[in-house]
Amino acid sequence: MDDVGAYIDNNRQRFVDELVEWVRIPSISSDPTHAKDMARNAEHLAARLRELGAGQVAIWPTAGHPAVFAEWMRATGKPTLLVYGHHDVQPVDPLGEWTTPPFEPSVREGRLWGRGVVDDKGQVYIHAKAIESIVRTSGELPINLRMIVEGEEEIGSANLDALMRDHARELDADFVCVSDTAMFGRGIPSLCVGLRGLTYVEVHVDGPAFDLHSGSFGGGVMNPVNALAQMIAGLHDADGRVTVAGFYDHVLPLKDEDRAQIASLPFDGAGWLRSTGSPAPWGEKGYSTLERVWARPTLDCCGIGGGFQGEGAKTIIPARASAKVSCRLVPDQEPDDIARKLAAHFARVAPPGVRVRVDFLHGGRPYLAPTDHPVFEVAKRAFSKAFGKPTVFMREGGSIPFVRTIADRSGKPCLLMGFGQPDENAHAPNEWLDLENYHLGIKSAAYLYDEIGKM
Ligand SMILES: [Zn+2]
Repeated sequence: MDDVGAYIDNNRQRFVDELVEWVRIPSISSDPTHAKDMARNAEHLAARLRELGAGQVAIWPTAGHPAVFAEWMRATGKPTLLVYGHHDVQPVDPLGEWTTPPFEPSVREGRLWGRGVVDDKGQVYIHAKAIESIVRTSGELPINLRMIVEGEEEIGSANLDALMRDHARELDADFVCVSDTAMFGRGIPSLCVGLRGLTYVEVHVDGPAFDLHSGSFGGGVMNPVNALAQMIAGLHDADGRVTVAGFYDHVLPLKDEDRAQIASLPFDGAGWLRSTGSPAPWGEKGYSTLERVWARPTLDCCGIGGGFQGEGAKTIIPARASAKVSCRLVPDQEPDDIARKLAAHFARVAPPGVRVRVDFLHGGRPYLAPTDHPVFEVAKRAFSKAFGKPTVFMREGGSIPFVRTIADRSGKPCLLMGFGQPDENAHAPNEWLDLENYHLGIKSAAYLYDEIGKM
C-alpha cells in the first residue's frame, strides 16, 4: 500500500485536473434541455473507467437518465464491494450568486469551486482515482469491485429501484459503499450510520360551503381556521413530545453506547444555534440537540393557510383551511403507519362543525446501519489511516431514500463513507470541494479496498 500512497501523492494535481474536465459538463438532471449533456456525462465517465482495466463497463439506459456501471471481478475468492454514486447535479440558479461560473471550475484557497464538485462528481472520482492508483501500481484490485453511478439522484432516483431489480445479479455484492454524504467536520473521518425517514401529509379542514359574513354568522358556526390552529397547537405536549397516539410505538430507543458516542463528538452547540438564527434551542425533553436532530422522530407544521390574507381587514368566517405537516422518522417507524396515525389523530381532535381530510403526499423509510458487522471496523481503520485521526460514527437528520432502497435491495451492510464538508454549499450557489479532503478521500478508498481484501 506504500507505493499506492506515493502514487496518489505524485498524481495529486492531475487527479484534480481530470475532475475539472468532468465538472465542465452541465449534467443537470431536472432540466430536459440538458438531456444530451446527461448522456455525454455518462459517456465521459464510462470512457475514464474503461481506461482502468474494468472487465465490463456499460451504460444502462433507464426510463429517465442513464446510469454507468463498471466491474473489476478478477480477485477470485475475495469479497465484492458495490460502490454507489451519482453523476447528475443540482440546478445552478440563482446564477448571479456564483463567484465563478458553475461549469467553469476554478481553484481558490485550496478549494475547487463548481457545480457537482462534491455532490457527487468529486466523490465518484475519489473511487475512480483510488482504483486507478491500485491498478497502476500493483496491476489488480485486492477485491472484486462493482460500481453503479446513477443519473437521477437529484430528482428522486425514480428508476433506481427498477435498475437494482433488473440488474440484481450484476449488482450483487458482500458490502455496499455509498459516497454522497458529508463528514462531521473538517478533518474528522466520519461514517454515517443513521438517516431519518419521512412522512408528509396535508390536512384539509372544511367548514361552511363558502366564506360567511362574520357579523351575520360569527358565533353560530365553527371557523375552520380556528379549528385547524387548535389542532396543530395540540400536536406537542409541554415536554416537546408528539401527542399523536402510537407515534412512538416502533421507535428504537437510543442505546447507552449510542448516546455516549454522540456525546463524545466535538459538537459546537452555540455555533450551531448561531447558524440557525433562533434565539434558543428547543426540542423533546431529555435529549441533546444532536440526539433530537439525528435519532428522535419529529413532527413539524411546514405551512398553514386559510381565510383572508390580503391588505386591510375583511370580516369573514372562512370556508376552509389547510396545513402541511411533515414527520422525520427513525427506525423502526414506517411512513404509511405514521400517516394512518396522523389521519386518525386529526379526525379525533377535530372540533364539531368541520370536516377533516388528510392526504398523504410522500414518504421515505429511515435507515440504521448494522454497525456490529465487522466491515464497519474495517472501514474505520481505512478511513483513520488516511486522515490520521480516529473515525467517528455520525447520523444525518435528513432523509436519503435511495440508501434504504440500496440497503433493502442488496440486503448487505451499507457503508456511508462521505467525503463532503457540512458547509460546502451542495445544492446552493458556490459549491466547493476541499482539495485536501479529495486527496485524503482517494487514499481512504484505496485503503478501504485493501482492508476489505484482508477480511
Ligand atoms: Zn448527492
